Amino acid sequence: MQSEFVFSGLPMRVLFGAGTISRLPEEVTRLGMRRPLVVSTPEQRDQAEGVIARLGEASSGGFFGARMHTPVAVTEEALAVLSERRADGLVAFGGGSTTGLSKALALRTDLPQIAIPTTYAGSEMTPILGETRDGEKHTIRSERVLPETTIYDVEFTTGLPVAMSVTSGLNAIAHAVEALYAPDRNPIISLMAETATAALVRALPAVIERPDDIGARTEALYGAWLCGVALGAVGMGLHHKLCHTLGGSFDLPHAPTHAVVLPYALAYNAAAAPEAVAALRRVMGEGDVAVALHRFGQRIGAPSSLADLGLDEGNLDRAADLAAARPYPNPRPIERGAIRALLDDAYHGRPPG
Ligand code: NAD
Repeated sequence: MQSEFVFSGLPMRVLFGAGTISRLPEEVTRLGMRRPLVVSTPEQRDQAEGVIARLGEASSGGFFGARMHTPVAVTEEALAVLSERRADGLVAFGGGSTTGLSKALALRTDLPQIAIPTTYAGSEMTPILGETRDGEKHTIRSERVLPETTIYDVEFTTGLPVAMSVTSGLNAIAHAVEALYAPDRNPIISLMAETATAALVRALPAVIERPDDIGARTEALYGAWLCGVALGAVGMGLHHKLCHTLGGSFDLPHAPTHAVVLPYALAYNAAAAPEAVAALRRVMGEGDVAVALHRFGQRIGAPSSLADLGLDEGNLDRAADLAAARPYPNPRPIERGAIRALLDDAYHGRPPG
């Protein structure tokens, strides 16, 4: 057990369970909103319209233009809609892209937010916002972007396609794994991270067999919530740096990139992270935890290599340079050569280690 640590909890109010969307109107009132704007991606417009219908008079309609990586141009468009409709709050219905737009709007207006997550990305639990301007992603940290309330209605996740459930679930596990070896970790977050990993490792195989099984979806969303808390509470290391680089500079898709990279990042750090390895062995069983995680990904149908995600092999050198360019907290020192080798393994989908 850690003998010295700092724990600082972030505020959160969570309504969890199947059917909790029915409590949205009372939550809107509780936060003093009378005309919140509902935001979503174009793909989830129909479902978001359903949320607007639930609010009846107590809404100012919707904005359905949320996009991956929160482009500032989209935020500006939504800001104009907010002010034109005199909206007094935000309801974010969707995955990390939608939550990102809502956070970007809250940062600029200080309006209260209700998040209704429909993936396992976990953004609703973090004070982190990544925005893209002129093709460059900038990350800021501010409690102003934290949603006041999160409604985790399990029923919305039954429609998350199986392939996305797998990659988004592994994206969540990645938050927990890096929290377990974060230099600023603490026992509370480590407890959550281990419990969360166990929940997702149990739930995801059931989710792929029976996508509309409420029991399995409940356990998966519970795990994803705790992974989000871990992501917001302690610093992330090599894995998130690599995914940020691959997504930001080479346009690789967010969750699938996490799904491919995680076993390799864990293999890189394992020898320097004995507590994390012990926790993961309690979840995955004895043996090499990076190999176990890789096999788990294969078993549930995760994409198996960076080549499969469309990365050009010629970009591996530059990706290694970018990932090693600036120091950041990580249990094992960042060595450019070893990272290049890691990327090579991930590119070809070889077993990690
Ligand atoms: P996403 O929000 O981009 O969703 C991908 C697609 O799936 C979208 O078209 C979306 O509308 C659709 N979708 C979402 N839920 C669905 C459902 N239940 N049924 C059917 N379709 C559904 O994907 P994501 O992986 O959740 O989020 C990725 C983005 O979130 C990235 O930009 C990433 O950087 C950001 N993110 C930020 C944080 C943070 O703390 N700031 C944390 C995690 C992710």
